[in-house]
Amino acid sequence: MFIAPEFQQLRDRIAAGGPDAVERALARGRLDLDDLAALLSPAAGPFLAEMAQRSARLTRQRFGNVIQLYAPLYLSSFCINRCAYCGFSAGNAMPRRVLSFEEAEAEAMILHRRGFSHILLVSGEAPAKAGVEYLEALALRLRDKFAAISIEVQPLETAEYARLFAAGITAVAIYQETYDQTVYDQVHRAGKKRDFVYRLATPERAARAGMREVGIGALLGLSDWRAEGLAMGHHLAYLRKAFWRTGLTVSFPRIRPAKGEFAPLMPVSERDLTQLIFALRIFDPDLGLYLSTREEARYRDGMLGLGPTRYSAGSCTVPGGYGDSAASGAQFEIGDQRTIDEVSRAIRAKGLDPVRKDWDAIFQQHEQGRRQAA
Ligand code: SF4
Repeated sequence: MFIAPEFQQLRDRIAAGGPDAVERALARGRLDLDDLAALLSPAAGPFLAEMAQRSARLTRQRFGNVIQLYAPLYLSSFCINRCAYCGFSAGNAMPRRVLSFEEAEAEAMILHRRGFSHILLVSGEAPAKAGVEYLEALALRLRDKFAAISIEVQPLETAEYARLFAAGITAVAIYQETYDQTVYDQVHRAGKKRDFVYRLATPERAARAGMREVGIGALLGLSDWRAEGLAMGHHLAYLRKAFWRTGLTVSFPRIRPAKGEFAPLMPVSERDLTQLIFALRIFDPDLGLYLSTREEARYRDGMLGLGPTRYSAGSCTVPGGYGDSAASGAQFEIGDQRTIDEVSRAIRAKGLDPVRKDWDAIFQQHEQGRRQAA
């Protein structure tokens, strides 16, 4: 089982890196965790342009011109947890709902008509409202209409993931939020999510169940982003070794305004986020990297071609919000309000190819290419 390194040790290791360590890391073909620490360090700040070039080159080599587009489908805003930073927190008074199968299917078909053949199902963590049976039944209804179904829901047991895999769900995203256990304990005030270790072992339970792709991430703004990046590097290295058949992805959500008005404990600037994305791309060139509509259009456009490979577009974080634009109760405010066509145009303007189709097929092509190149 993956054991997270002590957070302060990660910070110390990063602080020890100087310009020599950064230059050494950038000169190497295959990087180790010491190299990643160097690229995350303050000493790497002046090397950002060089890191951008390397990150862009690797991204082009491994993923070609493709930017995969997606939109989340929010199923339920009920949650049993009290996370200080989230609009869905059980402590917030807000209108809540769980979509019926018919309502969820109607929302899914709106995304289908927009051209998506891959769908991401998202919910708050309330197993009594949207548990395994609900997800399984919904997946069985959607599987013939979509080429691939992913989930971002409460952590599950291996057998439960296996059941969902059999129903057609092939990818799981589960974010640790922070690898700093002291902060984790502060911001997760009640609910099952308070169990840091259980959550930390969730990506490997999903991989063990046979999921083709597993995503991890840290919520940026809770603790030191540099150490979060190195902790994710450790987690990725562990998962690569233990589950070499499983595709891995990373998300970089920065804290957005939400009900409850939580302010970031350690704000992360766009420059910080950029360094983190480049460092992880250079460390592990095969990662799928997400840049969601949490970020503003200007920043997302600027990052096109430099590292991220997956962009959300036309997203709504309210259950039922695609069909009913007046629906209220968002998880957080989004930063890039453009429609999917507008985002697609911006991608094409950079000479890249926005793809809404089957990511599994793309991923398998990519894996084949990777194996041939190895
Ligand atoms: S972050 Fe997730 S678990 Fe926490 S309150 Fe929000 S929906 Fe619930």
